[in-house]
Amino acid sequence: MDGRWVEVGDGVLARRHAELDLTTGLVLGDERALVVDTRGDARQGAELAAAVRAVTALPVLVVVTHAHFDHCFGTGAFLPCPVFAHPRCPATLAATAAAQRAEWTGYYRDRGDDVTAQALATTEPPLPDHPVDPDATVDLGSRAVALLHPGRGHTDHDVVVHVPDAAVVFAGDLVEQGAPPDLTDAVVGEWPATLDVLLALHPAVVVPGHGDPVDPAFVTAQRAELAEVAALHAAVTAGRIDAATAGRRSPYPDLLWAAADRNGR
Ligand SMILES: [Zn+2]
Repeated sequence: MDGRWVEVGDGVLARRHAELDLTTGLVLGDERALVVDTRGDARQGAELAAAVRAVTALPVLVVVTHAHFDHCFGTGAFLPCPVFAHPRCPATLAATAAAQRAEWTGYYRDRGDDVTAQALATTEPPLPDHPVDPDATVDLGSRAVALLHPGRGHTDHDVVVHVPDAAVVFAGDLVEQGAPPDLTDAVVGEWPATLDVLLALHPAVVVPGHGDPVDPAFVTAQRAELAEVAALHAAVTAGRIDAATAGRRSPYPDLLWAAADRNGR
């Protein structure tokens, strides 16, 4: 068993995966279903596709929240179908897929997980072909779902999925539960304002890219922590404090601070 469905609204499901504590999504309409993110390799994508097929026989659409491998390398299992993403996503994926594959294949080999390493090593991720620029509405039949880019944050091309009739937002890695947000490719200075846009959608439930579904209060608290990180980053950039001091004051571990600092943004 690679995952389990959690109902977060009427016909709105989150799927929790042990691997990387990832969370994917499924929104059901009368005529179509929308899959939110596709897992990290062809084998994992096939597992998710089979799990979706166990829930619904409807034609599926896919939305990729961003170009990190764990969210989009499994897309091939769903093709042919439209694959939505921000316009910067396919270019980023094309430019970084080989490096992501090399880095994470090494990670799995080091852990002795040769099955996942091999699956990842042989996965060529399909590129999204339907741009969300700056937003798109997907008609699932009796239900319209909004895809939008609320601003830069976890990456420069994050897309969130708003299901207004269920008051659910799938946030991708703009929100993380159970671990600190990943700053590796972040635009930290803009991330808090991006979460303001997400919160203005007035969700009852926010589904993070990793971890359990959360409420708006959780997102507000994470936004405050990210605002602290952004302020520390600005202070370092302006030369008011050094990176080591900022790392000690950061609500997140030094390692994550160092990643944000390395990006210089
Ligand atoms: Zn990510």
